[in-house]
Amino acid sequence: MTHKMPVLFVGHGSPMNAIEDNSFTRNWEKIAVKIPKPEAILSVSAHWYTKGSKIMDSASPRQIYDMYGFPDALYKLIYAPAGAPLLAHQTKNLISTEVQIDNSWGIDHGSWSVLCKMYPKADIPVFQLSIDAHADAAIHFKIGQELAALREQGVLILGSGNVVHNLALINWDMEDAGYSWANEFDEYIKDKINQREYDDVIHYRNAGRSSASAFVTPDHFYPLLYVLGASEKDDKLTVFNDSCLLGSLSMTCYLFE
Ligand code: ZN
Repeated sequence: MTHKMPVLFVGHGSPMNAIEDNSFTRNWEKIAVKIPKPEAILSVSAHWYTKGSKIMDSASPRQIYDMYGFPDALYKLIYAPAGAPLLAHQTKNLISTEVQIDNSWGIDHGSWSVLCKMYPKADIPVFQLSIDAHADAAIHFKIGQELAALREQGVLILGSGNVVHNLALINWDMEDAGYSWANEFDEYIKDKINQREYDDVIHYRNAGRSSASAFVTPDHFYPLLYVLGASEKDDKLTVFNDSCLLGSLSMTCYLFE
């Protein structure tokens, strides 16, 4: 029997998490042990931010090292799960807006930096759906709703981004702390999610001034909307890693099961 899979949003933070062992990555590992083992993983990564929606249907997707200036060890990390062509086509058919098959991308670090901790054996097929940079927030939420049916098929829907992600304002002296506006925005979103008031998450500008600094482009925020869309009202919600670091980065994760 296939379990109804949870949906998960992970604040992935620095790519270095892939090769570091810290309280955040240990919680990613714990979650993977706690939830049923997925048949496949559909990842909506902040790092595949495209014109129009795209989905990969390759049986063996490439691994993409889409980060610059990091230690060699990170570029030597191999995470090479199989793809899921059949599920990719089913997923495309579930979505009412146009989605193009596109294998020009691959499994990027938004996916593998988290999955190499959660499922180090890489024995679960992974496929990615891109984020249409030109679509409204409400569209991303709606696509998430349409994806919910995949949960019945043992697919783990993973949104990988960061609720607060403003690299220009990173402050290396604020190791384990966030700016007040970063904490404020992260808390605001957490409250709204706890109250299941997703309209206010979609219309995140309602948060006021903090929303203006939280990110410059919403690429790291939008994966959250897919996860909220795919969640159900009576899912149990677990919030973890809920903290900001380096001033302008939030690591907060949301699990619905
Ligand atoms: Zn990122």
